[in-house]
Amino acid sequence: MNKNKHFTLTNPVTSLSGVGLRLQEKLERIGINEIQDLLFHLPYRYIDRTRLSPIGTLRPEHEAYIQGEIELTQVRFGKRRSLLCRISDGTGSIILRFFYFSKSQEKGLQRGLSIRCYGQVRYGQGSLEMVHPEYRVLNEHQENVLDEQLTAVYPSTEGLQQTRLRKLTEQALLALDNDEQSLVELLPENILADQKLPTLSEALSYVHRPPPDADIKSLVEGIHPAQRRLAFEELLAHQLSLLQLRKDFRKESSPALNKSSHLVTVFLENLPFELTNAQRLAYETISSDLNKTEAMLRLVQGDVGSGKTVVAAMATLQTIEAGYQVAIMAPTELLSEQHYKNFRIWLEPLGIDVVFLTGKLKKSRRTEVEERLQNDTPVVVIGTHALFQDSVSFAKPGLIVIDEQHRFGVHQRLALLEKGQQHKVYPHQLIMTATPIPRTLTMTAYADLDHTVINELPPGRKTINTSVISNERRDDIINRINKVCTEGRQVYWVCTLIEESETLQCETAIETAETLKEKLSAVNVGLIHGRMKPTEKENMMQEFKNGKIGLLVATTVIEVGVDVPNASLMIIDNAERFGLSQLHQLRGRIGRGETQSDCLLMYQSPLGDLAKQRLEIMRTSSDGFVIAEKDLELRGPGEILGTRQAGIPEMRVADLMRDARLLPEIQNTAKLLLENDHDKVESLIHRWLGKNIDYSNV
Ligand code: ADP
Ligand code: MG
Repeated sequence: MNKNKHFTLTNPVTSLSGVGLRLQEKLERIGINEIQDLLFHLPYRYIDRTRLSPIGTLRPEHEAYIQGEIELTQVRFGKRRSLLCRISDGTGSIILRFFYFSKSQEKGLQRGLSIRCYGQVRYGQGSLEMVHPEYRVLNEHQENVLDEQLTAVYPSTEGLQQTRLRKLTEQALLALDNDEQSLVELLPENILADQKLPTLSEALSYVHRPPPDADIKSLVEGIHPAQRRLAFEELLAHQLSLLQLRKDFRKESSPALNKSSHLVTVFLENLPFELTNAQRLAYETISSDLNKTEAMLRLVQGDVGSGKTVVAAMATLQTIEAGYQVAIMAPTELLSEQHYKNFRIWLEPLGIDVVFLTGKLKKSRRTEVEERLQNDTPVVVIGTHALFQDSVSFAKPGLIVIDEQHRFGVHQRLALLEKGQQHKVYPHQLIMTATPIPRTLTMTAYADLDHTVINELPPGRKTINTSVISNERRDDIINRINKVCTEGRQVYWVCTLIEESETLQCETAIETAETLKEKLSAVNVGLIHGRMKPTEKENMMQEFKNGKIGLLVATTVIEVGVDVPNASLMIIDNAERFGLSQLHQLRGRIGRGETQSDCLLMYQSPLGDLAKQRLEIMRTSSDGFVIAEKDLELRGPGEILGTRQAGIPEMRVADLMRDARLLPEIQNTAKLLLENDHDKVESLIHRWLGKNIDYSNV
């Protein structure tokens, strides 16, 4: 009698009643193609209309369902016209505020009527308010019962109503009851028992349609066992896919590179300093990795200035000495140029060929470099992304070094490996990042990598004094620049990223430089931004390094790699717009010399609460790991690493911070499944990531 009876969950959504082509298109936009996709399209929150909250108990930032009598309705003119309606239930009163409203709406909210509203409570002008709440004026003759269940709210897309989604999931849940085949339980029984977790179909039914007696609080917070169960499975699937990839790559053969017998020793003798212990240990680990036929996939994390480049140079030398080629890739022109310079200074005296390849090379020079790489003698090539364009191939790749890796995601990283392979021989891969990656993320987004941390800075580094300062005090700051420059030291002024637009960023920098030139007549002001030619940038950096320029106005092109020890003051304009890890990197450009350095984080007043907290973290901490952990807490992983770039997939239920507690058990389970149950591994990956995974096509 019910046509759902004949469905299996793998049928297309169009087999559900009411789904035509137009609706199908909208559903496709949010990743729903088969009926079972509806079940995995999980509510991201719930509306609780099962009980009313006394107005007197309301707190800002909370959602609430309330009922009260209208005391006053009026249109307020001012900056922005709004309709205000005050209601009270005897325990307290609250204002409902509407910026968009019709005449009839205004009329309908008459004094004395009873009204029910659902919305988020916030601080208004002098009292609590709800902005654009959902509301219903009560009718005396009607029964005003409360809901018996929480109402699920789904992620949606334009033109796709919640009610529609609810009806569709209703049908999908019926299909779930009738189809025992499609959604088999994939978690091992003992895990379910140990963790006291419900089965998959129990969990799905529960989260879509929480029963009347559900523990509403835990559901709303996302920590109900049904949600935890789904999060567990989702995180497990992600973990498995990464481990699987890692396994696939590691079984590919790589050249075993003999330990260096002389190049590294000579290199170290020529260095003007001693390695730190952390550098020494990091190299030892890398050196034995390189010595194996299993591909190295190692992430070296070390705070700004911890000396990662030297470690990369030693790995490079081992590879060259073994007769192989090395590619070193940096994210920006400027940084790759700087590496090129350093490596030439370090390696050319040892008789090693070092070449440079970026997108900006002339065609003829580029062809020359490409030909050089096809010759199978040892060479070091340094460059940007251009290194991995189709025309580039390596005759004898041994090692790929990727610097400042946080800009590359898992997928890009793997594409690079593909690129580097030659007749199924894979180069080793060394990834270096100054972005401290919190543990929760290393266990997930980076589960395919081994880790080494350089947790020590070279001796003699001074901590930087950081202050947070309003841009209303620009004049004080300008005086300070004047003073520092008069004393013979140098200053960076970093301009903000207004939008993701490089052009706008450059324009801001140009304007700022003009203004500062006018105000600082005694100071030589320079300017550097991404739109300049590499040689122009190089010259400008050189002049700054030589001390000819006192104040360097810059965009974030200076973020990585630049080394000018005499610079002791940095002003970061509109600091509140930067990510904390980025601020930390920028700040790492000073404090490299003998004098005490200062960093001024200048903000546009007024500063919001969250921004205030974030800048406060910068002021009080100089530890990159602490900063990254806090940033993660405040902004979530996507923001830190850039969700898409970092290859952190959007999770459907799981939340890395909230569900971090599950990770150790997930890791164990992942290992067990990989060892014992390959079919389940495949099914889990397919269920949660199925259609999204395509590494060949990055
Ligand atoms: P990062 O880890 O940020 O890439 P770099 O490799 O650029 O750091 O090193 C920062 C600076 O410290 C460079 O000028 C480098 O020559 C210097 N340096 C590296 N290792 C040491 C060391 N052990 N002792 C003193 N200075 C060092
Ligand atoms: Mg570096």
